Amino acid sequence: MSEPTTFPPLLPVYQRIDLCFERGAGCWLWDREGRKYLDFTAGIAVCSLGHAHPHLVSALVAQAEKLWHVSNLFRIPALERLAERLVAASFADTVFVCNSGAEAVEACIKLVRRHFWARGQPQRHRIITFEGSFHGRTLATISAAGGKRLVEGFAPLLDGFDRVPFGDLAQVEAAIGPHTAAILVEPVQGEGGVRVAPEGFLQGLRALCDRHGLLLVYDEVQCGMGRTGRLFAYELFDAPPDVMALAKGLGGGFPIGACLATADAAAAMGPGVHGSTFGGNPLACAAANAVLDLVLEPAFLERVRARGARLKEGLDGLAERYPAVLAEVRGLGLMLGIKVHGDHQRFAARLREKGLLVVPAAEQVLRLLPPLVVEDEDIDLALERLEAALREGPA
Ligand SMILES: *Cc1c(COP(=O)(O)O)cnc(C)c1O
Repeated sequence: MSEPTTFPPLLPVYQRIDLCFERGAGCWLWDREGRKYLDFTAGIAVCSLGHAHPHLVSALVAQAEKLWHVSNLFRIPALERLAERLVAASFADTVFVCNSGAEAVEACIKLVRRHFWARGQPQRHRIITFEGSFHGRTLATISAAGGKRLVEGFAPLLDGFDRVPFGDLAQVEAAIGPHTAAILVEPVQGEGGVRVAPEGFLQGLRALCDRHGLLLVYDEVQCGMGRTGRLFAYELFDAPPDVMALAKGLGGGFPIGACLATADAAAAMGPGVHGSTFGGNPLACAAANAVLDLVLEPAFLERVRARGARLKEGLDGLAERYPAVLAEVRGLGLMLGIKVHGDHQRFAARLREKGLLVVPAAEQVLRLLPPLVVEDEDIDLALERLEAALREGPA
């Protein structure tokens, strides 16, 4: 007889921190013991408007009382409005709405393959991707990113991805062959450690795509929707894509993702070619439209840039004063990372004890991703708490 096994009811795929939050408001979270935390995780760049934003709450409540879900058998006016607004605000001509970041990237991958198939070039299906990238946890998206910890134990992976070092244009060019269809890249790598595309890199990719007839696909799941101080990170690099994935900040905490594309890239997508049961339902679109109501106001992004500059300046000052602990400050807008000497997970735990929540990433980086509505006082307090932790030396 085999030993009785004790396996937790909840599949243990996360190493969870022993904290339970009960409510939130703006940049603040309260746990069950009533302790208050400054939330610079924002649900990993999801809660763009902070917690319990009145505009988001009232939009969602109003919609919940009318209609949650009808399926894509029918027209959904809020979905049509969301698509029109995203098109008006971006490079794109058309939008597919789904429920998560991985699904949005999957839609991008399928769109790329279908594009070349419909042009009679089915052999052109390979996509160039980058080391250190993250595109989600589905089979296609782990195959695309290819990191050891993502793919281990999940073979056979999906074929069709060629990985090269992030930021290395020469290696990208060398990887282009007769089977290459597209390049998939995060303008700012998030999980990879807040690595910003180096100067000229995205423009170089754009030029390579134009020269070789490839589609340029951006994964702006994390860096999009105002996070960098521009609605989309690519605006900062003057290199628009042909296809782009969005999710995280789009619903302000309600699960929703989107694949945006030019008419040319999407030409082969017609009825029945792709779909999603939940994608773009009235409840999700009410949330996303409410987020857009605020984020699309010109003053909103200006404010994000000003808050981002304040935080960056404070961090740069700390890096100067505590070089033995704080090795580097990187990022754009309110997507900032600090690289620390010592154990960065332990350093995050120390910050937690001081009431500041941050998100660990690769390369010993801790991400500071406050809600985009963060106030100057919140930033100054976060810097104070960070300084108190730095004073104690490497963790
Ligand atoms: C989070 C993330 C994803 C995956 O999003 P999910 O909603 O978890 O599927 C994809 N790409 C990037 C850049 C991300 O940061």
